[in-house]
Amino acid sequence: QVSDASTRSALVTGASSGIGAATALRLTAEGWRVFAVARRAEKLEHLAEQEGIIPIVCDVTDADQVAAAVQEVTEAGGIDTLINNAGGALGVDPVASGKVDDWRWMYEVNVLGTLNVTQAFLPMLRAHGEGTILNLTSTAGLVSYEGGAGYNAAKFGQHGLTGALRLEEAEHNVRVIEVLPGMVKTEEFSAKRLRGDASAAEKVYAGVDKPLVAEDIAEVITHAVTLPHHVNLDQIVIRPVAQA
Ligand code: NDP
Repeated sequence: QVSDASTRSALVTGASSGIGAATALRLTAEGWRVFAVARRAEKLEHLAEQEGIIPIVCDVTDADQVAAAVQEVTEAGGIDTLINNAGGALGVDPVASGKVDDWRWMYEVNVLGTLNVTQAFLPMLRAHGEGTILNLTSTAGLVSYEGGAGYNAAKFGQHGLTGALRLEEAEHNVRVIEVLPGMVKTEEFSAKRLRGDASAAEKVYAGVDKPLVAEDIAEVITHAVTLPHHVNLDQIVIRPVAQA
C-alpha cells in the first residue's frame, strides 16, 4: 500500500490506547495514512480495523525493533510526520521513597524512547523536505508536583530534548512541535500510574470535575500538524479549565 504524493502520512507511537489511539483515529478520519506503533499487538490489530491504519508492533526503547519499523515504513511509502507519544508515569512517590526502577522505566520510555525513534526517522523526515515531529510531553515537564518527581524528571528531560531538537532541525526544514497536556483522563494512564488502584486513580483527578479526554488532545494535534508547514505551534499547553 503506497501513498500518492499528496497523502499525508504519520507514525504515532503509543497508539494502542489513550491519546495515541485517538490521534491515529482522528488523523485517518482526515484522510491520513497512519502507522500505529505500540507493544500490545492485539490492541493495534483492533485499531487497524479502521482503514488507513497500519499496525507496527514495536518497543520504542529497543533500537533493533525501531530499526525494523523504519524499514517497514520505508517499504510502505514513508512518512512526513512523526508523533512521539509513547510514554507514561509509574507510581506517585515522594523523592524520599521513590523507586529507582520506576524512575528508570520513566526515563527510558519518555526520554530515551523519544530519542531512539527520532534519531531513526530523522533521515526520512529531512529527506522529505517538509517533515514534522510532534512530541507529547506534559505540564509535568514544566511544573513539578508532590509525588511526581520521577515523572517530572522524565518529562522535564523530554521537554529539554524537544527544545534543542527544534533549533537543530530548523535548517533541515523539519518542524518540531511540543504538546504539553495537563490532566487527561485516559484509563490506561491512571491505572498504570497507580498500579491498578482505581480509588487512588480517582484521587489524581480530585478537584478537576472535567479533565481533558484523549480526543481533546487528538483534535489539537491534528490542527497543529495540518497547518501550513511554515507555521509552527511551537509549544501548546492544554489544561482542563479547573486544573491549577
Ligand atoms: P496510555 O497509557 O493510554 O498510553 C501510553 C501508550 O504508550 C500506550 O499505547 C502504550 O502501549 C505505549 N507505550 C508505553 N511504553 C511503550 C514502549 N516501550 N514502546 C512502545 N509503546 C509504548 O496513556 P496516555 O494516552 O495518557 O499517554 C500518552 C502520552 O501523553 C504519554 O507520553 C504521557 O506521558 C502523555 N501525557 C499524558 C497525560 C495524562 O494525563 N493522561 C498528561 C500529559 C501527558 P503499549 O503498552 O501497547 O506498548
